Amino acid sequence: MPTPLALNPALETIPNYQPGRPIEEVARELGLPASAIIKLASNENPLGPSRLALAAMRRALTHANLYPDGNAFYLKQKLAGKLGVTPANLILGNGSNEIIEFIGHALLASDAEVVVSQYCFAVYPIVTSLFNAKLVSVPALNYGHDLDAMLAAITSRTRIVFVANPNNPTGTHVDRDALLRFVNAVPENVLVALDEAYIEFLDLPLDLVSEIVAGLRPNVLLMRTFSKVYGLAGLRLGYGIGHPDLIAALEKIRQPFNINALSQAGAIGALDDTAHVEKTQRNNARGLRLFVRTFRHLKLEFIPSAANFILVRVGDGARVFTAMQKLGVVTRPMGGYALPEWIRISIGTPKENRRGLEALKQALAN
Ligand SMILES: *Cc1c(COP(=O)(O)O)cnc(C)c1O
Repeated sequence: MPTPLALNPALETIPNYQPGRPIEEVARELGLPASAIIKLASNENPLGPSRLALAAMRRALTHANLYPDGNAFYLKQKLAGKLGVTPANLILGNGSNEIIEFIGHALLASDAEVVVSQYCFAVYPIVTSLFNAKLVSVPALNYGHDLDAMLAAITSRTRIVFVANPNNPTGTHVDRDALLRFVNAVPENVLVALDEAYIEFLDLPLDLVSEIVAGLRPNVLLMRTFSKVYGLAGLRLGYGIGHPDLIAALEKIRQPFNINALSQAGAIGALDDTAHVEKTQRNNARGLRLFVRTFRHLKLEFIPSAANFILVRVGDGARVFTAMQKLGVVTRPMGGYALPEWIRISIGTPKENRRGLEALKQALAN
């Protein structure tokens, strides 16, 4: 029976976000122990969380009966110090996904347009639809952002333009100078939402933080996360860096206790563990090189990646995904991104990478 409720009509067209499949789910399905499965599907940190984060969370558990600090005072202090911003420049989200939703609440209505690049992160179209706004998807250039075309797509109705740098799912990144010219050229009444979930994997990223602190970028929001390089995806913690006026608006939308106490403690611990971040970056660079070498050897087309995953063209992506999964290696099929011939593989530990590539070779041979 159809629901008698007068649901938001936008919900009819919104797809469900398809996450990477959890290890336990795949293990149950295959009748294998969880230890037999490796997940290279969600761009998580293969080295695990920082030990400092774990220790801080263990200490925080004792106080789980108490509500968290709704303003996350200590975490904001610590993060502000690390970034060279003030706490008034920071908004915390339950994952940076929640920050994407905050900006939807703050800026979108049914007459609004949102400019994205083809092959953009799946959450941007979902949030755009949720607010009945119109998605303007600009054809990709070599699978990445065509910044000039995106600029040209901005109209008087545009409220947000999303640029993920590096981009998920393609791993592409935009040139520093081109990005700066783009940010300079976007009209002041349009928010540039710069999604920097993978920024820590870029060698020389454009750094707009000091200009934001100086109050020079009222229409820019940098979005970052503890889910990727920091290895804390399970905690759900992301943050935005922006002008205090923008942040104050987003703070009104945020629910009081959106960041739980364990996340706050874990993130403070993780911020101290620069060795873990560096180790993660080194492991990633090395893993990426192995994937590139092997893809070249196998004559597989791939998209050069600046992130912690790589997109490779395998023919029938759904088939190869399933075949690899049967071998205990979970990757990400890309049909949902209109890239059905490709799969996305996250960089793992050296051992996981070898096993992932072995499974890929077997899957392709069948
Ligand atoms: C992973 C990812 C995020 C962050 O996700 P959270 O876990 O919600 O912080 C944001 N944007 C992109 C492009 C991502 O790939």
